[in-house]
Amino acid sequence: MKKSDISEVSALLATPQNIVIVPHKNPDGDAIGACLAMYHYLNLKGHKATVVSPNDYPNFLKWLPGSKEVYKFDMQNRQSKKAIDEAAIIFLLDFNALHRVGSDMENTLKDFKGDFIMIDHHQEPEAVAKFLFSDTSICSTCQMVYHFLEMLEDEDSINKEIATCLYTGIMTDTGSFRFPSTTSTTHQIIANLIDKGADNAKIHNNVYDTNSYGRLQLLGRALSNLVVIDQLKTAYITLTQDELNEFSFQKGDTEGIVNYGLSLDEIVFAAIFIEDTDQQIIKISFRSKGSFSVNKFAREHFNGGGHDNAAGGRTEISLDATVSKFLSILPNYQHELYNSYEK
Ligand code: 5GP
Ligand code: MN
Repeated sequence: MKKSDISEVSALLATPQNIVIVPHKNPDGDAIGACLAMYHYLNLKGHKATVVSPNDYPNFLKWLPGSKEVYKFDMQNRQSKKAIDEAAIIFLLDFNALHRVGSDMENTLKDFKGDFIMIDHHQEPEAVAKFLFSDTSICSTCQMVYHFLEMLEDEDSINKEIATCLYTGIMTDTGSFRFPSTTSTTHQIIANLIDKGADNAKIHNNVYDTNSYGRLQLLGRALSNLVVIDQLKTAYITLTQDELNEFSFQKGDTEGIVNYGLSLDEIVFAAIFIEDTDQQIIKISFRSKGSFSVNKFAREHFNGGGHDNAAGGRTEISLDATVSKFLSILPNYQHELYNSYEK
């Protein structure tokens, strides 16, 4: 973000404003963490901030401070639209293009006449925001929100609530500080957040050690569905809607399962294909180790995108047809997959 932009944002935030904060649809820990951190910060500064999420998010994030005040655009449509209507500023956090909030909310946001401020670490940000803070090298939007407060020279305002939300998003987007995007700066920020009151052990517990029995059983099924294609260094998992129903699927239950494929020795590319009969789509997650870009792969073949090593996509054909398509494309990447990662 340019210095002049920061001064303008600073001036804009010098008087109390109605502000809405928006994450992408199906928000993850980073998106919700960034929104709630910003929510606590702005309210502390005398603004009237409201988080409007396109839809609901997993239960393992519901303990976050401020979570109860989040509006869901699909369920609380009237209140959400009113908040957007009254806002002078809208923060767009952890996404790069308006369509990522889903078509209903996208239409409402398109009519917004105030200023958008986008803070995001995904590639190719759309030119919708008056103020854009984009950096694809940073591990998480939560780390960027921390840098944003630094740029406003206001990191001293970070309290326990803000620190807790930022810690959570950095932790979830880095796979607990292990992905390559985790830097010494990330660790320094994490240390500062602990000093400011983030209870690190409790946060890990609240996010990772609150599984339901059904979720673990579903994980068991997913692992027994795992297919390994040694010669292409690829592993993939499928889950049908019937399987999700069998284990009383709840939002968030499939989060992270794709990473088990990548935990296999010699595997550099992992995918999970999840049937969603409600939306009539197959939701796909891709992960990779090394130089093989799943962002590019998802963009080119599966209506998606994301980061080089973590991306998502979808199809509107059957689960079997989706897997067939995947398997027919894969051999074209044999060379790239072989050269992706060296131990
Ligand atoms: P996940 O597999 O966890 O849903 O997503 C992995 C990463 O890719 C996340 O950073 C997510 O925001 C991004 N992502 C998921 N689906 C899409 C998509 O359809 N388009 C784009 N641009 N990014 C996506
Ligand atoms: Mn993120």
